[in-house]
Amino acid sequence: MANGKQRIGVIGGGMAGLTAALRLAQAGHEVVLWERGKRLGGQAVAFEVDDGVHLEHFYHHLFQSDRDIVALIDELGIADHLLWLPSNVGYFADGRIWPLNGALDLLRLGFIPFHDRLRIGLVTAYLQRVRNWKRFEAVTAENWLRRALGQRAYDRTLGAQLRAKFGAAAGDVAMVWFWGKIWLRTTSRRSPLDQEKLGYIRGSFNVLIDALANACRAAGVELVTGTGPERLSEIDGGRWEAMVDGAPIEVDAVVATVPSPILLRLAPGLPPAYAAKLTGSRYEAAIVAILRLTHPLSDIYWLNIADDDLPFTGIIEHTNFMPPSDYNGKHYVYLGKYLETDHPYWSLSDEELIATNVPFLQRVNPAFRPEWIERSWVFRERAAQPIVPLHYSERIPDFRTGLPNLYLANTSQIYPEDRGTNYSVRLGNRLAAMVNADLEAAAPTGAPIDADRPLALAPD
Ligand SMILES: Cc1cc2nc3c(=O)[nH]c(=O)nc-3n(C[C@H](O)[C@H](O)[C@H](O)COP(=O)(O)OP(=O)(O)OC[C@H]3O[C@@H](n4cnc5c(N)ncnc54)[C@H](O)[C@@H]3O)c2cc1C
Repeated sequence: MANGKQRIGVIGGGMAGLTAALRLAQAGHEVVLWERGKRLGGQAVAFEVDDGVHLEHFYHHLFQSDRDIVALIDELGIADHLLWLPSNVGYFADGRIWPLNGALDLLRLGFIPFHDRLRIGLVTAYLQRVRNWKRFEAVTAENWLRRALGQRAYDRTLGAQLRAKFGAAAGDVAMVWFWGKIWLRTTSRRSPLDQEKLGYIRGSFNVLIDALANACRAAGVELVTGTGPERLSEIDGGRWEAMVDGAPIEVDAVVATVPSPILLRLAPGLPPAYAAKLTGSRYEAAIVAILRLTHPLSDIYWLNIADDDLPFTGIIEHTNFMPPSDYNGKHYVYLGKYLETDHPYWSLSDEELIATNVPFLQRVNPAFRPEWIERSWVFRERAAQPIVPLHYSERIPDFRTGLPNLYLANTSQIYPEDRGTNYSVRLGNRLAAMVNADLEAAAPTGAPIDADRPLALAPD
């Protein structure tokens, strides 16, 4: 390598940071990774819900099109943990559950008139065929879908879902985001008539995170948890000083995998054009409650809520996907809600949140009794879901920040696909390749960024 071994600091121990750290160490660099959480894994991390039983803070599954993460799982030798299981989706509307696992179920969606069901089917089939998503950059999902479906069908189905997911920002979301969701579900099936299968890592995503962390250690990465840089300062010759627990640590390059507002705080000297892109990165937050139940709540894994009165975006019954026998016979249900951090729910205590949510479960299953709840947990994430506005390809922050040897890889750069662990692995792989090439070429890495060059517009 032209420049020899470099010392690189990686900030953030989620899927992007761990993947980037592994690749940089494999390329011969000396890597230190800081994760301020107690445990590695970021948004995909799991915790012990019962003796020897782990479950993610936030519900997680994979799609069959998630090639980058599946390749990593193979590479790490844990493919025997990856299961592909039938998905089981439903809609909650008009006070009842409507299964929605294919065209026949769509035709039976009795809470909208028959010709609305046909229209939804035709619009979905059309979107599945669209490959040129660029034209969806100029129109909001709300406007496009309302026109395509008609006001009533939109309001009762996809509009209700958009409102549940994006709240006050629902009207800002570009149609590209919605197209990306449809595209994902289409490419995730082996054939259009196939029953959709979703992936899960038996034993939880911690199996992958631990294997990745072990591979990092074996490649020489120093993994530091429970702390991270509070400040980054540029020093001579494009080197960086990270202030960690009040002590300065010098590195040749920094790879930040933190949400955009955090990088803005860490590195106040970013070029204004780049800082403006970070300021423009908006996210929905998420609050997720997990209930351990003695009985199943329903027979659906993924229940979309198309009812504005219910305080959830979705009810995800994990043990209708993985068998309860893997969970000591208990039933685990996630109550998920996306929201803005000024929403009253965000500041409720865990107990208040559970007390507010639980009465609604009787609407989903009239037999439900609060006594079924053995235990509950609540988790919060500020940067849960990037909000993709119109013409986002022109607004994506580049990997190169414009400051020498300071790089960013986070979920706001995933486009046109929606964020997900697969794409964080892809970000980590791509960013490491770029950093490596920059360092090898000893190029002037702080060269002004080409603001017009979108990052990774076409899916692989
Ligand atoms: C509710 C919910 C459901 C989801 N469902 C799925 C799903 O079904 N399938 C799927 O594939 N994906 C899902 N995702 C998305 C997926 O988990 C994320 O896209 C992915 O894990 C992000 O990884 P990352 O490394 O890019 O970021 P993160 O996981 O956010 O990692 C960034 C890390 O940086 C750390 N950090 C921040 N500041 C500092 C600092 N100063 N010093 C040190 N460390 C710092 C944070 O603690 C964090 O661990 C879901 C996410 C949520 C919120």
